[in-house]
Amino acid sequence: MFELLNAQPQDKIMALMVAYREDPRETKVDLGVGVYKDPTGNTPVMRAVKSAEKQLWEAETTKSYTALGGDPAFVKALSSLVLGDAVSADTLSGAAQPGGTGAIHQALELVKMANPDATIWLSAPTWPNHPSIIKHLKMNMAEYRYFDNDSRAVDFSGMMADLDGVKAGDVVLLHGCCHNPTGANLTIEQWKEVADLIGKKNAVPLIDIAYQGFGDGLEADAQGTRIIASTLPETLIAASCSKNFGVYRERTGLLMAVSQDTGKQKVTQGNLTHLNRQNFSFPPDHGARVVQMILDDPKLRSEWETELEEVRTGMLGLRKQLADALRQRTNSDNFDFIAEHRGMFSRLGATPEQVEHMREKHGIYMVGDSRMNIAGLNKDSVDTLADAIVDARV
Ligand code: PMP
Repeated sequence: MFELLNAQPQDKIMALMVAYREDPRETKVDLGVGVYKDPTGNTPVMRAVKSAEKQLWEAETTKSYTALGGDPAFVKALSSLVLGDAVSADTLSGAAQPGGTGAIHQALELVKMANPDATIWLSAPTWPNHPSIIKHLKMNMAEYRYFDNDSRAVDFSGMMADLDGVKAGDVVLLHGCCHNPTGANLTIEQWKEVADLIGKKNAVPLIDIAYQGFGDGLEADAQGTRIIASTLPETLIAASCSKNFGVYRERTGLLMAVSQDTGKQKVTQGNLTHLNRQNFSFPPDHGARVVQMILDDPKLRSEWETELEEVRTGMLGLRKQLADALRQRTNSDNFDFIAEHRGMFSRLGATPEQVEHMREKHGIYMVGDSRMNIAGLNKDSVDTLADAIVDARV
């Protein structure tokens, strides 16, 4: 049977990681894979996570199963971090998932169960795993314009024009904040316009929020999601804790379904737990429990918020330093967009040839579409990157 399997395409980011590892140059800079790195290049276990894990180790008396939808206290704590008081508890269903990827996958399966003909609308560009999962599930997809390669900002009129083609029952996938791969984000006014349009089209928004706290802060980063969830009749939200709690390998995420029609809550919740049962039964618990302990304990929470804020402002500082270095070198404001973008990524707008030139000549490793992980920089490598960008004539 195995001879019937086809080879799968190689993951480009993983291939880049291998090439970086094998590069002997000491000055090489890794701006590839999407994990946060501190100025020394480490991806640390956050202080509050360490403390919570210690407490958990001491207090945990059983490893028996939790609930099919995960620990209800985790669902409550994380949904409240994402949604604040934008929706009431009786409108919300939620089930813990193995990471944000699990939540997105399961959100799409739910859509497929309800409406197999729905088209899923994706921003162009988007995180490559979005189209890949949709293809795997054999669902329909379409693209809406999102990024203007000249201004390196959101092409909002293009986006709205394309979303005008959305049909009733279609699903519009939006990045809650810190758009991956571009770093360009909607303003609050634009979120309201998008909400209006999706509402008029009787379509369903699916919000992927994987970087809350990495952009303008925990509350500010959730505003778009809250506007959508509080105004539209139905919203799906896939939240990840991988980045903002640094628990990548623990696979911690949550799928939320908000329906203003409270009569639907029981059936929706039942479908979410049904999907968990079919796919993996019980979701992973360790990361979820640690996240819940942090969110519900004022001391741990404040420790976590402080460290997350250090991470966020550190990246903002690097953005500003890089934009300044390029302003100086080019005598222009052409690269000011780097300081305007938010989150871990910025799309530089370089051609694949320029990206290759920067890798070969300067040891700068970024994804082929010129997505750079800002957290891969530090005070010293900013200048190496600025020189490379100028040398490659981006
Ligand atoms: N959505 C986006 C846009 C992401 O960048 C990521 C992480 N790379 C995820 C979702 C999911 O991450 P995870 O499955 O590790 O929680």
